This record gives sequence, C-alpha cells and structure tokens, in this order.
Amino acid sequence: MLANSDGQLQGVAPAQHNPLNFLQERLEALKGKNRYRRLRAVESAQDAWVMLEGRKVLNLCSNNYLGLASHPDVKETAAQAIREWGCGSGASRLICGTQSYHQILERRLAAFKGAGAALLYTSGYMANLGIISSLVSEGDYVFSDQFNHASIIDGCRLSGAEVLVFPHNNMEALEEKLRRTSGQSSRKLIVIDSVFSMDGDLAPLPDLVNLAQKYECLLMIDEAHATGVLGPGGRGAVSLFGLEDRVPIVMSTLSKSLGSLGGFATGSKELIDYLINTSRSFIFSTAMPPGVVFAALAALDVLDANPSLPLQVQENANYLRNGLKKMGYDTGNSQTQIIPIVIGEAAPTLEMSRFLLEEGVLATPIRPPTVPEGTCRIRTTVMATHTRQDLDFALSAFERAGQKMKVI
Ligand SMILES: *Cc1c(COP(=O)(O)O)cnc(C)c1O
Repeated sequence: MLANSDGQLQGVAPAQHNPLNFLQERLEALKGKNRYRRLRAVESAQDAWVMLEGRKVLNLCSNNYLGLASHPDVKETAAQAIREWGCGSGASRLICGTQSYHQILERRLAAFKGAGAALLYTSGYMANLGIISSLVSEGDYVFSDQFNHASIIDGCRLSGAEVLVFPHNNMEALEEKLRRTSGQSSRKLIVIDSVFSMDGDLAPLPDLVNLAQKYECLLMIDEAHATGVLGPGGRGAVSLFGLEDRVPIVMSTLSKSLGSLGGFATGSKELIDYLINTSRSFIFSTAMPPGVVFAALAALDVLDANPSLPLQVQENANYLRNGLKKMGYDTGNSQTQIIPIVIGEAAPTLEMSRFLLEEGVLATPIRPPTVPEGTCRIRTTVMATHTRQDLDFALSAFERAGQKMKVI
C-alpha cells in the first residue's frame, strides 16, 4: 500500500506550503490592471451571427473572413473524409503520419501561392516557430517589425538569433539596422506580417523586397490575414504586389479565411525539403488529421468557384470603416477587413465592449500584451457573409456606444 491508515503517503512529508500560491497573486495583479481575461463560450456554429450566453449577437470579431468555417461544402467534405479516413493521423509526418491527402493539399497550396512547394504545420503558430528557428540561429540576426504577431516574436526568441525590432513599418529605421550589421558573415532574416493583425494595415512589401535584396537578407512574409482576402483569387498580399518570385519564404494559415485549422510554409522545393529535415515543430508533432485537411481542400474549391468572395470582404470592410469614420471614430491606418477602434486605457475599452454586447454586437476588447500600453482597442473584423443590414445594425450600435462613452 502506498498510503498508511491516516491517508499519509509513505515516505512523503506532509504538505506544508503550496508552491502555486503565486498564481493567485498574479491573477489579482491582472485584475487590478483590468487585464484579467476569461473564456466565453459561443454556443452555435461560427457564422455572421452567433449565440453567446443565450443571446443571438452579430459576430464582429471572427477571422472566419469568408464564412468558410461553416460552409455546407466544407462541412460535408470534412464529414466524408472522417468517415473514410478516421479522426486521427496516427503519427508525426516523418514516422507514418504522412497520408496522400497531406501531399494533395500541399501541392494545391503551392500552386495557390505560386510557389514550388508547401509544407503543412498543425497551426500558424507552430509554422512561425518552426520556420524561423530553422532558418536562423545563434550568431545570426532577425529584423522584426514592432507589431509582428506573437508567434513571430516567439519564433525569433526560440531561434537564439539576435532580434532587432524596428518601429512599425519604418523602412528607414530597418535600413539603419541592416546597415549596422552589414559586412558580417552571419545570416540575416527580415520577418514581417503582410497584414497586421491588430491594426489592419499593410507592410510595404516592395520596399522590403528591395531592402532584402540590397542587404542580402532572407525575407519571410506572414500572410495569415491576407490569404483569402487580398490579391487575385485571395492569393494574398505577396500576390497582390506581384512578388511571388521575390519573397523566398511565405507563411500562411488555414485557420482564418480558409475556415479550418493549420499553418503552412510556401517557397522553393529546396526550402521545403530543408524544413522537413530541420523544423522541430513540424518533425515532433502529430500530422494534421484528415477532417481538417479535407476541409481546407474544400475551402480552396469554394474560393476557386467564387472569385468574388474576397472582394465581398473588402467591400464590407470599406462600408463599415467609412461608416465608423463618418461618425468620428479613429480607425487608424486600417486598409483591410481588420478595423481597430483605438480607445486608449483598458477600463473604457472594456466598458465599450460591454455596451456593444448589450446592443447585440460581439466586438472583443484587445489589451496589452496583445497591443502596446495605452492603445487598448475594440478590434472589429468583417466577413463576406455579413449583409448590408448586418453592417448597418453594427453601425447604429457603434453610434450609440460612441455617444454614451463620449468617444465620438
Ligand atoms: C493568427 C495568426 C498566426 C497564428 O495562426 P494560427 O493558425 O491561429 O496558429 C500567425 N501569424 C499571424 C499574423 C496571425 O494573425
């Protein structure tokens, strides 16, 4: 027996202090700064309208930009795939987890992005960790925009390379940093989002290509929010600028516009071969399950058959952004389906979000560490499946919220 009659474990001293006591303190500190977060469950499928805690509300914060997460063809294809192939993939890709459908999707994604090859990761987060840490290491340099996504930041940290953060979209500051490190034999990587996730503005891709060329740097673009929305047929911002042949490393996700889950890298066959052999978040993780892979394939079919879907997102974004601006809201430099309304401090941002929810609009507050101190915001996103009526409903809620909060 491991325990004696008092329930005491044999050979284990009685517990005297709880090493997890710091958790409560940390949580209280977050509450004190209005940074405490809790999970709220949506009780319906991801659509333009969702059920939240028993109420039907307009969803104005989803990344399901094309509405494909609940598209009938996507659901049916995934369901059939699960019936035929099962739910799990059984192993990591290099053991026996690679199945024919992974390679079909990879060829499809490579063609979609105008690249030689593609490689799937189980999330966009994993893709950024795996790609960046494979390409640079201790003794190398990474140049990273101040507003890059957390997964890029973590990938840079994991790599062990020296990270040089430049002010948001500031090409002069980037060039200054490139100049200071030029002439050294170390490898250099510039990494940046093409559409910034909390601001909805675009990176100056042509300038970045030119700087990477001039200073003989690697260039990696994260297309998480551009794929499915920008460029011809939703191929992304790299494609919008016609730079497919000039950006050697592109990362993207299946989890936003493409309606399911996963990340992927596209580039030359050699790049992908290298990642297969060195990228630890690819190597040491179970392959994507069939339902998810087939959902992505079906999403690409829907996108191909409906080339106006990306335009519908952009049109809806212009309508909402113009409406908000006309009311006097500051939407920053947003040029895309991501439209931030910067409030400033956390407390009024939370109050605004609560008020919008009472009005039937789900628009989540974004606080540090996701955005810099003093730039808390309501981040709104539009979908192709929002109707004009939905957007008008949102605008009238924003009008009342803005007047009540005295921000317009
Ligand atoms: C969402 C996002 C990711 C992570 O992708 P997931 O598939 O959600 O893990 C990476 N980069 C950017 C810019 C993102 O917005």
